[in-house]
Amino acid sequence: MMHRRKTTPRAEYRLSETQRVNNSVSLAEKFPKLKSLMVDLAYFDTDGLTKSGELKYRVNVHYAKSVFSFACPSHECVGGDFDLSGAVAQAVTDRHKIAQGEIRCKGWRALPKETKEPCRNLLRYKLSLGYV
Ligand SMILES: [Zn+2]
Repeated sequence: MMHRRKTTPRAEYRLSETQRVNNSVSLAEKFPKLKSLMVDLAYFDTDGLTKSGELKYRVNVHYAKSVFSFACPSHECVGGDFDLSGAVAQAVTDRHKIAQGEIRCKGWRALPKETKEPCRNLLRYKLSLGYV
């Protein structure tokens, strides 16, 4: 008989990531010159062709945390995030109004016989920034 584990590697990772985000200061605190931020995200499968989801919204820089990270949409993915903190920091430093790029998920999926395969889902992002 199999026992159900209370937590999974994925759940444990999500929890530690949530703590890392919550412990960070807000975007407005870290980047006093940043007035507004719009994110436009498109999630793709590993082939970069099949769109699995999209997200577009105006970020409240006073509430959003400066660890600016989005979870991988794959439910099997462990340790996978798209961390846009660096992209935001770079854009603000250079005072760019638009920053675009893509990130591969660095997480992995468990396969039978305790093997793993890399997730490699793709996120294409566009940040639109406004300054004071
Ligand atoms: Zn992933």
